[in-house]
Amino acid sequence: MKDTLKHRGKRNQLAEIVASKGVSDPRVLDAVRQVPRHLFMDSSFEDHAYQDKAFPIAAGQTISQPYTVAFQTELLEVDPGRKILEIGTGSGYQTAVLLEMKAKVYTIERQLELFKRTSLFLPRLGYRPKKMIFGDGYKGLLEEAPFDGIIVTAGAPEVPKALLAQLKIGGRLVIPVGDDPQIMTLFIRKSAKEFEKSEFGEFRFVPLLENKN
Ligand code: SAH
Repeated sequence: MKDTLKHRGKRNQLAEIVASKGVSDPRVLDAVRQVPRHLFMDSSFEDHAYQDKAFPIAAGQTISQPYTVAFQTELLEVDPGRKILEIGTGSGYQTAVLLEMKAKVYTIERQLELFKRTSLFLPRLGYRPKKMIFGDGYKGLLEEAPFDGIIVTAGAPEVPKALLAQLKIGGRLVIPVGDDPQIMTLFIRKSAKEFEKSEFGEFRFVPLLENKN
């Protein structure tokens, strides 16, 4: 597991690409410069790691495109110490970006293979979420709620009610909604019952799957 000056240089370029597409939060761009994305992918794909593209990982899933990760993270408004729930740990790349920004991260993955692999891998790089959970993110994480932010990294056919219910007042849910493509959607909780909704264009994600049993 090596991270070299060459990788660092490529990450600086990647951060510039992400910025040129409209992400402006310097804390998000710094996190893109810090997280060694090539280590989150199979080493034979290393050449692709710093292109602004999604890429296949294990279990038929994908590591999200860096621009998408950065865009979602910007919408979340992650200040240090914020309590964030991530649905869809996958490779752990988004998790690492949130941890670089000093968030307290709880993350849920429903594929056992990815859960096992990523929960061993992240601490080896020094990334320590508060909790990594094998389970169904549709239900959120009631025992740790409420959250300052919830980020869903898979396409949700509909917005899970449990996730809205687990936001603090002022908290933000960032979720791609729909079949293919999804519309990036932000909900801000204004009061116990009121949510302000805004939409941010089309994205493509693997589906958020519900455990029906
Ligand atoms: N954040 C990840 C994106 C991975 S793709 C990364 O940067 O690599 C989306 C992930 O969501 C997949 O790993 C998929 O298994 C997971 N997923 C799908 N439905 C889920 C659910 N209901 N609960 C938790 N994880 C889910």
